[in-house]
Amino acid sequence: MISESELIEEIANRLGVRAERGRRFAELTSLRVGGAIDWVISPKTEAEAAAIVYELDQAGIGWRPLGSGSNVLADDHDHHYVVLNMSELKGEVRIEGDRVSVSAGYSLPRLCIDVARAGLSGIEGLGGIPGTVGGALWMNAGAYDHEIGTVTETVRVAREGKVIDVPGESIEWNYRHTSFKEGELLLGATLKLTPDEPEKIKERMDEAKSRRLASQPHGSRSAGCFFKNPPASTIGTGKMIDDMGMKGQRRGSAIVSPVHANFIVTEGENARAEDALALAEEIRERVRREQGIELEYEVELWRSNPEPPSEKGEQES
Ligand SMILES: Cc1cc2nc3c(=O)[nH]c(=O)nc-3n(C[C@H](O)[C@H](O)[C@H](O)COP(=O)(O)OP(=O)(O)OC[C@H]3O[C@@H](n4cnc5c(N)ncnc54)[C@H](O)[C@@H]3O)c2cc1C
Repeated sequence: MISESELIEEIANRLGVRAERGRRFAELTSLRVGGAIDWVISPKTEAEAAAIVYELDQAGIGWRPLGSGSNVLADDHDHHYVVLNMSELKGEVRIEGDRVSVSAGYSLPRLCIDVARAGLSGIEGLGGIPGTVGGALWMNAGAYDHEIGTVTETVRVAREGKVIDVPGESIEWNYRHTSFKEGELLLGATLKLTPDEPEKIKERMDEAKSRRLASQPHGSRSAGCFFKNPPASTIGTGKMIDDMGMKGQRRGSAIVSPVHANFIVTEGENARAEDALALAEEIRERVRREQGIELEYEVELWRSNPEPPSEKGEQES
């Protein structure tokens, strides 16, 4: 029987897409933690990405898309699935009037600069959010009164091996959550922005940047806010954790940032996801006990999974 690995290699070779073994989440995520990945496949165009996931689905091979890994905490064990590395699917930005078309792997901060220079307003608050356009669309990234969903006219998604346009209005854009379903690959988007003077847009971007620099750790390894703000609470999660005196609290290689209590940062070459997770659970437990509030993760927790039987067989024989 052909093993899953042989099948993956065959599909990637046939479609001319790079497929690698031996990579780790620790190199691919901003927290710099997480275990080994069976395969990382890096498509360079929207059509290639659509074709790859179609073939993987047909073959029953599990995959997950990853952008810059700035909102993912992957556990320390072996992850037996394909990571579709979207950060190389950069394409190019096309601006026509007030419409901007961009591929999923393009950097969101870079896009904010490009459109500001072109005199288009609507995403300048997002300039300091690390990550790709695809990652931002997936969870409706937002900051300083801007959310990507409010300016998204269409999203290009992969369906049956093809690139399909989905109208932005048909998508539910909620607080750090959208109606996209697991297994849906976002390939790119067209944004509809508002013309304004480039200097004014730049001023607003600079203002958002200074506010961010004043309130968040920079140069540290984090995934941004670890928890969402609770809907019914008048105070934000960061303030709540700060009030419990947890800033600077440590679990092994993970620390509650002394700058912003809703940021968990990691330290050291061999930092471990289990430390970050244990610290996060300690925070949740205290907030539950002392405030009666159930904190919801904003960061995505990616669990490892058992090895497929065909691979086990291959190693044993
Ligand atoms: C210092 C710092 C500050 C931050 N500040 C903010 C902030 O102010 N506001 C905010 O909203 N976020 C913030 N974040 C979180 C993070 O940057 C955003 O969520 C960002 O949009 C994630 O993009 P990414 O490319 O890194 O996605 P990843 O972390 O790689 O992935 C996140 C999720 O999106 C999915 N995904 C990624 N690409 C695709 C695709 N093409 N198709 C389908 N699914 C996809 C992944 O499967 C995963 O489920 C911050 C993070 C850091 C480190």
